[in-house]
Amino acid sequence: MTENLNLFTSTQGIVKEALDKLGYDEAVFELLKEPLRMIEVRIPVRMDDGSVKVFTGFRAQHNDAVGPTKGGVRFHPEVSREEVKALSIWMTLKCGIVDLPYGGGKGGIICDPREMSMHEIERLSRGYVRAISQVVGPNKDIPAPDVFTNSQIMAWMMDEYSRIDEFNSPGFITGKPLVLGGSQGRDKATAQGVTICINEAAKKRGLDVKGSRVVIQGFGNAGSFLAKFLHDAGAKVIGISDAYGALHDPDGLDIDYLLDRRDSFGTVTTLFEDTISNKELLELDCDILVPAAISNQITEENAHDIKASIVVEAANGPTTSAATKILADRGILLVPDVLASAGGVTVSYFEWVQNNQGYYWTEEEVSEKLLKKMTEAFENIYTVSNTRNIDMRLAAYMVGARRTAEAARFRGWV
Ligand code: GLU
Repeated sequence: MTENLNLFTSTQGIVKEALDKLGYDEAVFELLKEPLRMIEVRIPVRMDDGSVKVFTGFRAQHNDAVGPTKGGVRFHPEVSREEVKALSIWMTLKCGIVDLPYGGGKGGIICDPREMSMHEIERLSRGYVRAISQVVGPNKDIPAPDVFTNSQIMAWMMDEYSRIDEFNSPGFITGKPLVLGGSQGRDKATAQGVTICINEAAKKRGLDVKGSRVVIQGFGNAGSFLAKFLHDAGAKVIGISDAYGALHDPDGLDIDYLLDRRDSFGTVTTLFEDTISNKELLELDCDILVPAAISNQITEENAHDIKASIVVEAANGPTTSAATKILADRGILLVPDVLASAGGVTVSYFEWVQNNQGYYWTEEEVSEKLLKKMTEAFENIYTVSNTRNIDMRLAAYMVGARRTAEAARFRGWV
């Protein structure tokens, strides 16, 4: 049998397994297996050359039993209806895992921002908000940055929404620039959350992060900040990659130099001639491997060749279900995406709280609160995984899905 690389159906499969283990009946799975609402919009955009291009966008609201839905908007040529649906389920799980008063949501537009001007991206961002404005809002569904979207895009979206709403609405969206009500520490929050998971996982395995050898696949927002944090903590980052290739130095790469030369989409390897392949990168001899790029990277094909003893997933869905089992059987500790990448939405929640109360926190306060949330979530899932003798992914799905199932039950939905 060939393995399932479809993110949506494989996510549904693990949700089913988690709900069965928790003893919920079929109706709960029926409720959680799809988003409650999924809208598809068409967005006409005047391009710089005077022509009009019509883009397709989506917004999925997975479940709002716990509270308003929350999740990023990605701009990418490979965005699809199914991917957005799967990502919205992941957001429900993430919010459950770090105990935020939200359900999951996700949005995306099929486009390639690398080939668009800033003006075109602005018109597209504003057009998307006009198209979905009736179903989103600070107490309904709160967007945020994701792949290839950033604080500038959040600012345009917030401005457009505030005009439609005729009210300044900073709480409509998170990941904003500081002057528009953004939170201290939001830009590096995902990487900070991953770092906390790495530290906790290393403690469990008796490994000292200082001096350990780390490989990071992907040099975007999460991957690049992470490389910096780990480098500053004394780890040796021996491999990194972007969409075009990978770099390897067994003595440790010069991370500050690479950060300096990286473009806003995370591209840096094109500057070097001596690169290795993605496959070689993943199979490098190292202690900690962090897939921080795209899905389906560790599969049945290469799971046996992974040398790291700890794998921490900073990307969404980098390891297939079959590979998860192989890694677990080989005694490799895998910290799943829904836990490891929850730092971003956690600080988004802090941003929304600050917007709602109009009172802003220092960077230290944000970091301290993030550390507390992520450490508790890690401990909780690690304990569930040990006591039930299951891998950390299934444990994380159980913790994440339970909250929404319980909220839906109390509301009388199931
Ligand atoms: N896009 C990020 C994620 O997938 C952040 C979502 C948010 O901040 O709401 O977790």
